Amino acid sequence: METTNLRECRILLGSMNPSMKVEFGSMIFSIENSPWNLEFRDPHVLLGLDPGNEVAWDLVFLDARGFPEWSKVLKNSLKTKDPPALVVLAGEEDLELEREAFRLGASDFAVISKLNVHALERIIRQALFRRQATKEIRERDAELLIQERLAAVGMLASGMAHEIGTPLGVIRGRAEVLMFRNPANEGIRRDLGIIIEQADRISRLMKSLLNLARGDDMKTTGALDLGEVVGDVLGIMSHVLKLEGIELISEIPPSVPLKVHADAEPLHQIILNLVQNALHAIEVAKYSGRTEGHSIRISIREAEPDWCLEVADTGCGMSQEVIRGLFRPFFTTKGIGQGVGLGLSLSLRILESWRGSIHVESQKGKGSVFKVLIPRA
Ligand code: ADP
Repeated sequence: METTNLRECRILLGSMNPSMKVEFGSMIFSIENSPWNLEFRDPHVLLGLDPGNEVAWDLVFLDARGFPEWSKVLKNSLKTKDPPALVVLAGEEDLELEREAFRLGASDFAVISKLNVHALERIIRQALFRRQATKEIRERDAELLIQERLAAVGMLASGMAHEIGTPLGVIRGRAEVLMFRNPANEGIRRDLGIIIEQADRISRLMKSLLNLARGDDMKTTGALDLGEVVGDVLGIMSHVLKLEGIELISEIPPSVPLKVHADAEPLHQIILNLVQNALHAIEVAKYSGRTEGHSIRISIREAEPDWCLEVADTGCGMSQEVIRGLFRPFFTTKGIGQGVGLGLSLSLRILESWRGSIHVESQKGKGSVFKVLIPRA
């Protein structure tokens, strides 16, 4: 758990009053060692706070004397992602103002004429601790929410498994009957064989998803050829990549057995998700004006004791904030109907259950590289 390092905390005094800055500043600096970074600002700059931006300050003192917009600043700041602690300063006792400050979410209220060095030090320390505690509670709540949503997905998946499993069994059965009735027609038998194979693939995938939703470890069926699974995915995706004018570069060592400890269906899903994300990232880059010269490079190389699969794209890339959220369930930047944000978080859980891992490097506006490590068989 993160602990508050008081020395690194940034404190802002938002005041219009020059004598206040002197008075307040000297009080803060006479606190032993003055451990905090104190900045003075005209409080109007705080009105420019963009709710989407991270706030640089840990604690803001808002001087309500002569600054009628203080409540607006307070409301704005609290809407930001990582809000600072806010202490409202008044010139004299004012119960109405005090009540309003707490109602709007201030963490403390202080009367300047009654402040002394010790009281101020205590106010600062408590506001910073309170902020840290609020942050931890918020993170715990977010984690609980994710667990609840995952449980809901698990329930949905088990319902779906039943709904899909029955018609799938019928499709498979009918394909077998047709195969039986057409023993001599090679072409029809081959196509029916493909239908049966794909129906089996769907049921295996449903089973893996159910295991995962229940929190079971994924069982590996043994040695499996990574190159073949990549080949399958490229077979599915090459047509759409060609249509989009995206060059597909495949660097897979020929005639080397690329055996890994994994399970075919989930592995197929992991690679397909990476390629689909790469394609989406390139579409976003195209939309923002970088229309030419796009490629997706898929390579496999040795990385003892694993095989390393790399999927690199020339798409939109990611900000640090997106990279931080990438493997969190339900994290998505895609529009409604385009993504639910489960692809990478599920991939990570599956890979970890195989003792593998996934890593990312990305540059906003340039592209991304995903590296998947899977233990060799
Ligand atoms: P989803 O695709 O449903 O959004 P994922 O877990 O697969 O779920 O991806 C989560 C988010 O990660 C995406 O919404 C996107 O913002 C980001 N992302 C994943 N891959 C890439 C990539 N190759 N380039 C840029 N952003 C990516």
